[in-house]
Amino acid sequence: MIREMICVSCPIGCALRVELDDGGKVLSVSGNTCKRGEKYAIDECTNPVRMLTSTIRVNGGSLPVMPVKTSKPIPKGKMFDCMKAINNEVVDAPIKMGDVLISNVCDTGADIVATNEM
Ligand code: SF4
Repeated sequence: MIREMICVSCPIGCALRVELDDGGKVLSVSGNTCKRGEKYAIDECTNPVRMLTSTIRVNGGSLPVMPVKTSKPIPKGKMFDCMKAINNEVVDAPIKMGDVLISNVCDTGADIVATNEM
């Protein structure tokens, strides 16, 4: 099977072509002009990850919600579970930027951190 994708590791955006066997194992990567593109293609085919940004409900703040993000990229397959965990949480003000509001969300190893103050 052939998968085509754009490398988003830098603004150049090389068009990558990945050859996979029937079990999803990467056989070859082409179209990349540096090693980062090869790593991006392999990760994207074997364990795709994304940063998650959202908002979390706040008790006693100047606004009802505040923006949050994961401290590092998380597996794409865990995005909905993590969104659910964030939606089920209510945190108390005051909150400082960078505060960990949920630790190790859904066993991803990533924290949900505040991206603003309130
Ligand atoms: S393969 Fe290298 S040069 Fe091309 S977009 Fe990815 S990081 Fe940039």
